[in-house]
Amino acid sequence: MARYNEAVCRLCRREGAKMYLKGDRCYSAKCAMEKRAFAPGQHGQSRKKPTEYGIQMRMKQRTRRTYGVLEKQFRNYFGKAERTKGLAGENLLVILEKRLDNIVYRLGFSNSRAEARQLVRHGHFVLNGHKVNIPSMQLAVGDEISLREKSRTSAKFKDLADLAASKSVPTWLASNAADFSAKVVAMPTREDADSSINETLIVELYSR
Ligand code: SF4
Repeated sequence: MARYNEAVCRLCRREGAKMYLKGDRCYSAKCAMEKRAFAPGQHGQSRKKPTEYGIQMRMKQRTRRTYGVLEKQFRNYFGKAERTKGLAGENLLVILEKRLDNIVYRLGFSNSRAEARQLVRHGHFVLNGHKVNIPSMQLAVGDEISLREKSRTSAKFKDLADLAASKSVPTWLASNAADFSAKVVAMPTREDADSSINETLIVELYSR
């Protein structure tokens, strides 16, 4: 499966925003955005005024990278968002929020979305009683996820227990952090996604 391997802090610096791609480090003084909040590379500190297209492109890239989605899949999501009733930009964010890896991250069952993706791929979770390993799966109201029996004793999840217990979980998810299980009790809305994302710019970009 294709995946992005470049140093992830460079991505935050490129987009000029913290995308919280590295777990604990993102909340520490070691965060690259705390030390070098400018774009990487030789011309990273130049003050060229961005074009309208550049602004739209950066917002699309930032959103795509925040959720760890590759270009083609992101474009497919947008197509689906356009075909769905309502505002395409908002629909797009809802689709991204409903991904299984995002939900694992939102529940505090992982430090980052990248880690959530890896945990799902390694088959640590069960969806409605069946083992799953597809991070992009879209969850629906009523879906229940839990930790696979064999994974309960793993050191990884012992380490994650504190995070799961302390994480503030969105209201569309009902979490039982003590045993790493949860249920989707409602559909996420636009307000559940990052408020600093301007989805209108993404719609404008794809409407060119
Ligand atoms: Fe981004 Fe986290 Fe790296 Fe900071 S530490 S630059 S928020 S990935």
